[in-house]
Amino acid sequence: MRIVHTDLLVIGGGLAGLRAAVGARRRGHEVIILSLVPAKRSHSAAAQGGMQASLANTAKGEGDNEDVHFEDTVRGSDWGCDQEVARLFVHTAPQAVRELANWGVPWNRVRAGAREVVMDGQRVSLSERAEAHGLIAARDFGGTKKWRTCYVSDGTGHAMLYAVSDQAVAAGIPVHERMEAIALIHEGGRCHGAVVRNLVTGELSAYVARATCVATGGFGRIYRVSSNALINEGIGAAIALETGVVPLGNMEAVQFHPTTIFPAGILVTEGCRGDGGLLRDARGHRFMPDYEPEKKELASRDVVSRRMEEHIRAGHGVKTRFGEHLWLDITLLGAAHIDARLREVKEICQHFLGIDPSRELIPVRPAQHYSMGGIRTDVRGEAVGLRGLFACGEAACWDLHGFNRLGGNSVAETVVAGMIVGENIADFLASPEGDLQVSTALVRGCVVPNRLASMPCCQVRAVSVLRP
Ligand SMILES: Cc1cc2nc3c(=O)[nH]c(=O)nc-3n(C[C@H](O)[C@H](O)[C@H](O)COP(=O)(O)OP(=O)(O)OC[C@H]3O[C@@H](n4cnc5c(N)ncnc54)[C@H](O)[C@@H]3O)c2cc1C
Repeated sequence: MRIVHTDLLVIGGGLAGLRAAVGARRRGHEVIILSLVPAKRSHSAAAQGGMQASLANTAKGEGDNEDVHFEDTVRGSDWGCDQEVARLFVHTAPQAVRELANWGVPWNRVRAGAREVVMDGQRVSLSERAEAHGLIAARDFGGTKKWRTCYVSDGTGHAMLYAVSDQAVAAGIPVHERMEAIALIHEGGRCHGAVVRNLVTGELSAYVARATCVATGGFGRIYRVSSNALINEGIGAAIALETGVVPLGNMEAVQFHPTTIFPAGILVTEGCRGDGGLLRDARGHRFMPDYEPEKKELASRDVVSRRMEEHIRAGHGVKTRFGEHLWLDITLLGAAHIDARLREVKEICQHFLGIDPSRELIPVRPAQHYSMGGIRTDVRGEAVGLRGLFACGEAACWDLHGFNRLGGNSVAETVVAGMIVGENIADFLASPEGDLQVSTALVRGCVVPNRLASMPCCQVRAVSVLRP
């Protein structure tokens, strides 16, 4: 049996795991990252629309600050989030977005002078300040008082993931790809690492670590129609639950995104509506103002999704042999805007629907999109119930989002929590508690090849019960 030793084991090579790893490595600790896929193919790459940070650079962002971002986040969470976490988050997000700029993320920038935008179905002219020229721009997203979502056209997650992953490479952090954590090693209320399966050879190894951080993303794929990647099965949450001592939080809080293409469930970003796109029913009627006269298409996601389903149930959906849907109309944005800022959306429409969204309506219906719930942690990112176990990103219930996440607050959470939790893990490792006393017998007992390998992951019970 192979036993690998390290200071910090990060399970997950998406934005959250990579950023936490970089933080701990910079503090001098040895780190290994595990990932099911090459890190740059993690699901974070799929994030399209952007990341919230209250920079207040654009005309429509004027007056924005951390307090306004905090209020939006708390209200958006249906008053369900941890307000201490939300404070920490809004305070750190501007720093995180600037750090990413420094690491090479090509954020869209403000251009001084007049420009045309579509708001509420109308073309209007906005004027950007000369002093703001060249600063990081922001677009409108649902549930926010100000335009706060920083973006790289509609490939934001891709740009962020490449930049953070490059930092991990530069810091010399090894990513063990195609390796799946299938159980946590724990005893006496202390986590000692994980049992890991090599997805190519099937070989089992024990990764013994002084601290372990779960950053395995969401569990969307337990739903029939989801915008999530196929690897988002929630194994990180499952192995934490299987310890029998780590609780999951807010598992009932699951977000449905209003605009996934019908029937495949592939996301078209909220940026479509943020940039002025409208929702229409079978008659071509724009129905959201009937339900939400103030925010209309840009009410928060849970509200828009519910209203869409309500409207379909009232008999206004477009009937097809696959079921019913509504329309997303971005034709009014014009081909030039779509080519420049929504080019991924255009490609998705071309490849999966065979339509040109600058001329045709996009069939959409809400689908599962985001897991607010996950491994319950404290504000420092340490899991409740097991010392030495941390979690961050979508796998965690840090409880920034309560019962509803605002668009753009998730990739922001990955890098902000990565920064904060990475530092907290480094503190833990430097403290006497970070020392590890683990017997070889415990580790060997955890990896009983024939028994573990033959079980489906979700059935691997707390590994400690397998000790001889
Ligand atoms: C289509 C789409 C668009 C989105 N757009 C936006 C947006 O515009 N703005 C926004 O804020 N949010 C957006 N989100 C949400 C956001 O992208 C995710 O919440 C976020 O990227 C999750 O990052 P993460 O690092 O927590 O996890 P992920 O990026 O999902 O990474 C998880 C990692 O864990 C690894 N892993 C999983 N299980 C195991 C295991 N058992 N063992 C070892 N490794 C494992 C995987 O290989 C992967 O490396 C979007 C989501 C989707 C689905």
